[in-house]
Amino acid sequence: MKKRRSIVHTLSVMLVVTSLSFVQTGPAHAAAEPNQVTNVTVSQADGFTTVAWTPVDGATDYQIERTAVDAADTPTATPAIVGVWRPNRQVNNGSPTFADAGFNPGDRFGWRVRARIGTAEQPYSTPVFGTTLPPPGDPGIPGQNLRTPWETTQAAQFTSDVDEFAYTAAVDRLSDRVRVVEIGRTVQGRPINMFVIGLPAPAATPDAVAKTSPLAINCNVHGNEPSDREACLIMARQLAFGTDARTLDLLRNTTVLIIPSINGDGRAANTRGNSTGQDLNRDYSLIRQPETAAYVRMLRDYRPVAGYDGHEFSNNQAGDLPMLPPRHQNVAQSIFDESLDMIENHMYVQGAKAGWWPCPYGCQNGGPVGLSEETILRNTLGLKNTVNSLLELRSAGGPTRPDEGNAANNRRRKTFSALWTFNSFLDFHRAKLVDIRAARTTAIRFQSGNTGRIVFRGSRIIPAHPAPHPGEAPPPADQPGPDQILDNAPCAYKLTDKQYNGGRTDGPGGIGTTVAQRIADHGWKVVQVADGVLVPLAQPERGLIPLLLDGQAAEPWVSGERVFPTLTGPQPGPLTVDGFACLSAATVNGGVTVRPGGTLIATGSTIGGPLTADSAAGVFLGNTQVRGTVQVGRTAGPVSLIGSPLLVQVTLAGNIEGGAPYLAGNSIAGTLSCTGNVPAPIDLEVTNKVIGAKTGQCVAF
Ligand SMILES: [Zn+2]
Repeated sequence: MKKRRSIVHTLSVMLVVTSLSFVQTGPAHAAAEPNQVTNVTVSQADGFTTVAWTPVDGATDYQIERTAVDAADTPTATPAIVGVWRPNRQVNNGSPTFADAGFNPGDRFGWRVRARIGTAEQPYSTPVFGTTLPPPGDPGIPGQNLRTPWETTQAAQFTSDVDEFAYTAAVDRLSDRVRVVEIGRTVQGRPINMFVIGLPAPAATPDAVAKTSPLAINCNVHGNEPSDREACLIMARQLAFGTDARTLDLLRNTTVLIIPSINGDGRAANTRGNSTGQDLNRDYSLIRQPETAAYVRMLRDYRPVAGYDGHEFSNNQAGDLPMLPPRHQNVAQSIFDESLDMIENHMYVQGAKAGWWPCPYGCQNGGPVGLSEETILRNTLGLKNTVNSLLELRSAGGPTRPDEGNAANNRRRKTFSALWTFNSFLDFHRAKLVDIRAARTTAIRFQSGNTGRIVFRGSRIIPAHPAPHPGEAPPPADQPGPDQILDNAPCAYKLTDKQYNGGRTDGPGGIGTTVAQRIADHGWKVVQVADGVLVPLAQPERGLIPLLLDGQAAEPWVSGERVFPTLTGPQPGPLTVDGFACLSAATVNGGVTVRPGGTLIATGSTIGGPLTADSAAGVFLGNTQVRGTVQVGRTAGPVSLIGSPLLVQVTLAGNIEGGAPYLAGNSIAGTLSCTGNVPAPIDLEVTNKVIGAKTGQCVAF
């Protein structure tokens, strides 16, 4: 959540005892009184009840009342109004639904609904009774019978770090589907664990998991916002031990990555930041802290295609579940569009069925929240080509919610609304994986082509929907100013050895990791040159690179030297590269030979003959055609061929110094041969179209 002062209005009116005789006044088919709500139904889900009814003509809103009852449906407690349904709660006002939560799972209740016209209360519906679902998992089945302390204490206690580790280890031990991986340690040395969940077992290595198009849920970055984490622990158990068709189908088709506590020190101390006071959700690009560095390395190695990041907030005007896509203008359009589609065309639609109320972060009167800082995970993930959303769980009371304070009811409502959201996220990934992967492919090709301006800070517009609609009040525009735009993008940044390897004081205890280590954690490829390193922009995370290496950025690590293209437009060929050449929108009339120690970076260009590079320092092609054979061998640094619309024939041989060569999203008319590269080339799960034979390490491409 945005750090802001909460304005909590006590909802005294809603908590007033309503006088009623809780007796059904007639047979169900009796004629309704004027403006009486009819056809109330309740259906039960994990931790909540969906109350539905037929709308009353002219109703302004509806009040939902819940009463605890015994097995004979005799009230055992005072009825209370648990919420107010407003037309902007859902996309289809013709079928109102309300997700009632906060109760202890397994208890029995009666529900009634009444319309208000203006402020005039109309007659209540006849009551409908139901027993809510018990806590998820059969208490008689090992594994399913695990419970967190939060569950066993009926939300009186949050699960401690020690209890989390014991529960996590038990899930790991009892389920073949689960591998728990320690992805790093906090400043104070707490393990940062990740559930890796697949069927029948998770793929063996991070790279193998990446091939399953995994999704990632980050449960607790702000230590004083613990409710998503409790949902994650329950969800991990459901995925690990569930035998229902949906769970099995989900896990047959992907791998679920769940990190319960990225900020274990902050959770243990119930503080927003980590033990140094750093807000970790302002550090995912900078990775000055070990927690965020661990997360970013996980992203580099497991390559999730979609993500959710859980928070809580206290805007008393808001819906249940504020959400927001990555908005930074350097995020590829396809990632923004697919993320917004997930929120508006999946979450809003599913929310209207279940009764939950997703809305754009900020919602009504939400203030300047949800902006473009690339340091926020939502934006960092978008800049890493991951479809994703922020999730907030509403803490505060207000006109549509009773003021519950920090009571068990409030905690349960937040946690079970998070559980619903995360499960809906899994369903979206299952239903739309083709689209998600297409968005990612488009994004990686776009970014690697180094096309268009750089924006240092500035957000895409979240479009408003006409009221009443959950999306009627999006967050502010956050447009970039002139000094936040670089129209003429450089080809690369050059860092001095001091900038790259020099000690830093911006980490915990004044001992920071070097820029070299942070660049490696992000997974960017760099070219060693005589007096430093070059960081080409022709890479999948092109939108993030200038935000950390350009002195004009809002929060850069260093002010690197902008290196601009050396060749644009028509060029006589053939071309020989001895030192450094950067082609941008260039057309070479002939082939290109990169000599030993030379560096070639080419984007949006055409090479009219073969491309030969033997013992080069680095070779980067983004969205560049080569009308002859491509032979890249024995490179002393990185090799990256991404998004070429036409390559005639490709041979990668003996490249062992620059990490796994990238070969992603290209069209190759002839053969593709890969031999002796260490590590083997990878395609970043962006398919190459290869017409000819594929041999050696690329046989499975
Ligand atoms: Zn937060």
